[in-house]
Amino acid sequence: MHLSRFPRLHFAHLPTPLEPMPALSKVLGGPNLWIKRDDCTGLAGGGNKTRKLEFLLADALDKNADTIITQGATQSNHARQTAAIAAKLGLECHLLLEDRTGSDKVDYNYNGNVMLDQLLGANLTKVAADTDMNAAMESIASELRDNGKKPYIIPGGGSNEIGALGYVNAALELVHQANSQSLKIDHIIHATGSAGTQAGLVTGLMAMNSQIPVMGIGVRAPKQKQESNVFALAERTADYISASGVVARKDIVANCDYVGDGYGIPTDGMLEAVTMLARYEAILLDPVYSGKGMAGLIDLIRNKKFADNANIVFLHTGGAQGLFGYREVFDFPAYTQ
Ligand SMILES: *Cc1c(COP(=O)(O)O)cnc(C)c1O
Repeated sequence: MHLSRFPRLHFAHLPTPLEPMPALSKVLGGPNLWIKRDDCTGLAGGGNKTRKLEFLLADALDKNADTIITQGATQSNHARQTAAIAAKLGLECHLLLEDRTGSDKVDYNYNGNVMLDQLLGANLTKVAADTDMNAAMESIASELRDNGKKPYIIPGGGSNEIGALGYVNAALELVHQANSQSLKIDHIIHATGSAGTQAGLVTGLMAMNSQIPVMGIGVRAPKQKQESNVFALAERTADYISASGVVARKDIVANCDYVGDGYGIPTDGMLEAVTMLARYEAILLDPVYSGKGMAGLIDLIRNKKFADNANIVFLHTGGAQGLFGYREVFDFPAYTQ
């Protein structure tokens, strides 16, 4: 696989570290846990969208865009990383933020990623839940075109075959790291949402014949829908890198048992996972994605779904900036003034 065939900018801090989690492995008493630190990709807090944006922004610049439009939930990490790279490249940035959770909390609506979006100079528009986000982005684009701008639309989560190349590349990077440390990876687990991360990762792993199974822990859609979204994008990504057919439907596995009441709605498992990772490994997860992903992994370990000597890599997709939008759900005790 020769990804230099595709236009790409280089602004992510790569390779991200692959680290053991000895204290967490010990307290759970199960398999050996490792973490791939894609929360450390660098771009104004980093996260998984940074890898995708290296390919997406290269395409935008090739098309002479001067304005970037994208969308996400209010506390979208993707929106924040897009605002960051737009700022760095001197592009105007418009973010459509969907009120997916209905939260009226001040921190949720103004702190965390939203504060950073504003600090980074993006234009924010809040829209009601269940708005047709693609149509809404198109309508902003046509308004901008009428004003002489050249807008480039990035789909939610940066999840198309161009963005997914970032995770094809991550697959190469991870397998190379594992090989050089003689680490045999038995499973990769990560949070899955708009599908680009899992689609790219599985496409890369399959194209290399790595034999490493991936499980996405869903944060929104039910299992069948999530798996078919990921599979459709994996097929498009494989076509795009001239490896058509390399991913089979059975290679796409999502476990959507840890969503709770809905996207962005806290669960007890998420609160436990975020707190455990902070206190045992000094790693900051996020409330919407990696916290629920890790809650799934912890529950599966407790239910003996993995062999005790298995090596499991949790892909940390970032998002800790979103913690500040969820401060009150942690309900920490008052401290002496
Ligand atoms: C977007 C995001 C995900 C999900 O990645 P997709 O490519 O959208 O499936 C996981 N974790 C975090 C922190 C994210 O921001």
